[in-house]
Amino acid sequence: LRNDTLDQWDREAFFHPSTHLAQHAQGEAPNRVIRTASGCHIEDRDGNRFLDAFAGLYCVNVGYGRMEIAEAIAEQAKELAYYHAYVGHGTEASITLAKMILDRAPDGMSKVYFGLGGSDANETNVKLIWYYNNILGRPEKKKIISRWRGYHGSGLMTGSLTGLELFHKKFDLPLAQVIHTEAPYYLRRPDREMSEAAFVDHLVAELEALIEREGADTIAAFIGEPLMGTGGIVPPPEGYWPAIQKVLDRHDILLVADEVVTGFGRLGTMFGSDHYGIRPDLITIAKGLTSAYAPLSGSIVGDKMWKVLEQGTDENGPIGHGWTYSAHPIGAAAGIANLRLIDDLNLVENAGRVGRMFNEALQDAVGGHAHVAEVRGEGMIAAVEFQKDVAAGTFFDPGDKIGAQVAGKLLEHGVIGRAMPQGDILGFAPPFSLTESEAAEVADKTAKAVAAVLG
Ligand code: PLP
Repeated sequence: LRNDTLDQWDREAFFHPSTHLAQHAQGEAPNRVIRTASGCHIEDRDGNRFLDAFAGLYCVNVGYGRMEIAEAIAEQAKELAYYHAYVGHGTEASITLAKMILDRAPDGMSKVYFGLGGSDANETNVKLIWYYNNILGRPEKKKIISRWRGYHGSGLMTGSLTGLELFHKKFDLPLAQVIHTEAPYYLRRPDREMSEAAFVDHLVAELEALIEREGADTIAAFIGEPLMGTGGIVPPPEGYWPAIQKVLDRHDILLVADEVVTGFGRLGTMFGSDHYGIRPDLITIAKGLTSAYAPLSGSIVGDKMWKVLEQGTDENGPIGHGWTYSAHPIGAAAGIANLRLIDDLNLVENAGRVGRMFNEALQDAVGGHAHVAEVRGEGMIAAVEFQKDVAAGTFFDPGDKIGAQVAGKLLEHGVIGRAMPQGDILGFAPPFSLTESEAAEVADKTAKAVAAVLG
């Protein structure tokens, strides 16, 4: 197809996610059409190459162009492209993958319920939690606590769990069963004199107060990303998770670890729960499960919930929940090949080792800049946050779009980072196969982009 035809059809026919409608109406610039990709690089239709330091949407964890996964998908499509997974049926691929996931999951996990993407897996989680409390005879224990700035999807329930205003306004969200608590965001702590330990105490007190106000007997679960992603790439302060877990245990509130970004190696450990010593009752997985070679997600159900769910009686019949494409064989084949590749190439170890180097290189490159408030990260994920006056702790006017400007300059240097949606934050989450020289290149070009925008 000719470029101008593609541009015309794109404008006429394609309603893209996250479209800025006003800009669309004004005939914004044509979309970049990506043609091919290999390793950490993508290439557009005009032959421009970019180092993708965000791995798509932090999902192409093993890197692009992995023939092992492409071939596994092709083999599966030829042998059996589809059969459903409703009770009484399975496929070799989906059964094998369920076993492989449990073999890698933190201790205390019992079963895998498959979906397609992270949002629907979190919908599944909420329904399983409600079902569980129904079996226990306490259907009123229903509310879910999420964190401001948490990201858990963009459906009606999952958009409610997401603690970003953009996903609420105009949609009458959050739903009444969802309540939010403060994010563990040390840079934005309420009092700049607070130590990290005092900030954790403060977050615990906030959570306790919320539970007290709402009543523990109305609260079913707490959901959080081990390391907050879309809300700003925010590692938790030291001691945060054990302290939160203690509060939840005391009030018999389940813990959902949303590991859509952190699952399968991004922090240098197989799961973020392993990294921070979290004992979740449910784990959400998606993105890294297949490295996005095919859509697939899952809810890993812990022993405590499974033991109760197992006692479900005939009165309800089968659980009224499932998707046509749950455990799709092509997604499962991609997942198997992906997890094998991660093992064979030691990619979790690489994410930890090169990721640490990458974080240090970023710190060296821009950490001392007058407008860089923080370079933070863990394993193969990192962020640079900008402030107007670092000593005073004041932020730029959001209208200045400093984060987006720096990301734009970086793109001109051939590197893709991501301007995170709330705040002046430049995010990175490269494929785990990033090499040391690619890590150094991203850091170096980030310094150039920052200098171009902020001097
Ligand atoms: N949970 C987390 C932590 C995510 O980062 C995302 C997506 O970025 C989701 C859930 C939603 O996943 P999906 O976009 O596949 O529905």
